[in-house]
Amino acid sequence: MRSLSLRPRVAMAIYAHPDDADVAAGGVMAHWASQGCAVHLVVICDGSKGAHGSQTKPEGLREVRRAELQLAADLLGVAQVHSLEVPDGDVTNSEELRSTLVGLMRHVRPEVVLGPDPTATFFGGVYVNHRDHRETGWALLDAAAPAAAMPLYYPERGEAHQVSWLLLSGTLEPDVAVDVASTIDVKVKAVLAHHSQTGDDAEGISDVVRGRASQAGRPLGLSFAEAFRSVELAG
Ligand SMILES: [Zn+2]
Repeated sequence: MRSLSLRPRVAMAIYAHPDDADVAAGGVMAHWASQGCAVHLVVICDGSKGAHGSQTKPEGLREVRRAELQLAADLLGVAQVHSLEVPDGDVTNSEELRSTLVGLMRHVRPEVVLGPDPTATFFGGVYVNHRDHRETGWALLDAAAPAAAMPLYYPERGEAHQVSWLLLSGTLEPDVAVDVASTIDVKVKAVLAHHSQTGDDAEGISDVVRGRASQAGRPLGLSFAEAFRSVELAG
């Protein structure tokens, strides 16, 4: 594990569900935004199945989660949210999704792309990574390397763009950690903005978010960090 301190001018976070980015990378997104980086957030799903009770209606939940997403993005200082509004559970690493992501990468032209590590399936024998997360991860890898950088892929989607770094969260093989001590408070607020997911135990959620960030920072002596699997793509 090594410390990574990038200062991108443009970054793009690509995640499946409305709350995924805040949980995985809210600290680094807020940190970069505070330094003047244009942070774009691509959310593939509409959040319409993010409930455990059968009383919740997908249509109502979709509206609630759209508002929560914008509130959280504003807290982090996100420049623009790009919602693809795919129903929860329906994400597939399809030609259509790859084409859309290539188009967004070529339009926004991020130096760094953040997103889920699709190779992580089982966590600690107690959690199976959501299919939407895995499909999102595969789609963003395929879109960034090599499609967005090669002009003959999706020529109708704009001028080719080489992403320099991929930082993958929710990974079993983290190799870098980013110091988020200056933004851990705003990360907690952004996570709590997704009230439909976090419920009323704000203190408990705050403890979990801080605890994970503290654990991620420990190998490097950082008070709070976010850990990623990194890929530095050759230009
Ligand atoms: Zn999710």
